[in-house]
Amino acid sequence: MPVKNYSIGKNPYTFLLASRGCPFNCSFCGKPLVPYRRRTLKSIENEVDQIAGMGIRAVDFEDDMLNLDIAFFRGYA
Ligand code: SF4
Repeated sequence: MPVKNYSIGKNPYTFLLASRGCPFNCSFCGKPLVPYRRRTLKSIENEVDQIAGMGIRAVDFEDDMLNLDIAFFRGYA
C-alpha cells in the first residue's frame, strides 16, 4: 500500500520496532512469552534515516517495553 495511505492528520507515518518481547513474566500478562531483545542504536538510526528518506515524519514505536532502558533511548534522542 502506498505510504501516503498511512497518515496521522496530513502527515505520513509508519510503525517501528526497536525491541521485541519483555524480560518479565507477570502472571496476568496476556502477551506470549517472547525473550527481550533490543536492536542497536545504529540499526534504529539507519531505519529512521530510511523512513525519513521516504518523506515520513512520524514514527509509532510499537515496542512492548520501549521505556525499559531510558538511558539507552536518551542516547538516541
Ligand atoms: S508485557 Fe507487561 S504485563 Fe506482560 S510480562 Fe511484560 S511487564 Fe508484565
